[in-house]
Amino acid sequence: MEPPFPAVVFDLDGTLTSPGTTRPAPGVVALVEALHARGVPLALATSAGTATARRVLGDLGVLGCFTSVAGRGADGLHRGKDAVVGEALLGLGITDTPAGAVLVGDSPADLEAALAHGLVPVGVTWGGGRPDALRDAGAHLVLEHPDELWSLGAS
Ligand SMILES: [Mg+2]
Repeated sequence: MEPPFPAVVFDLDGTLTSPGTTRPAPGVVALVEALHARGVPLALATSAGTATARRVLGDLGVLGCFTSVAGRGADGLHRGKDAVVGEALLGLGITDTPAGAVLVGDSPADLEAALAHGLVPVGVTWGGGRPDALRDAGAHLVLEHPDELWSLGAS
């Protein structure tokens, strides 16, 4: 069976975790595990340090689900979400974004980076963002619960 998405890129803070914490947002671990189980290549793109991001994913129990983890490097430089999403995609071996690949994030900057890379921009409300602000930033879909992502997938 074909994976329901060619790839999914996740933001970390406010998307996988409740904003400003390292606790998982409700329902999100189950979504990540289900996507992984169905063969969807997963990447993380965060402005947090890469080592920190890997530790948080490990604490959530989903590090093994992610093929690619991109964040702020050891030099401490954050080159912007756009660059980090590009790096996350390269980590999946993607240089030409396939149709239907998705980015899930809680901020307008996430959605703008998604559009810049040809990813379907999906906003989430549990990071505290307003749905209308997310739509204004280009969100194709705004999730109130992680399971709503499946409405986009091919079966
Ligand atoms: Mg965020």
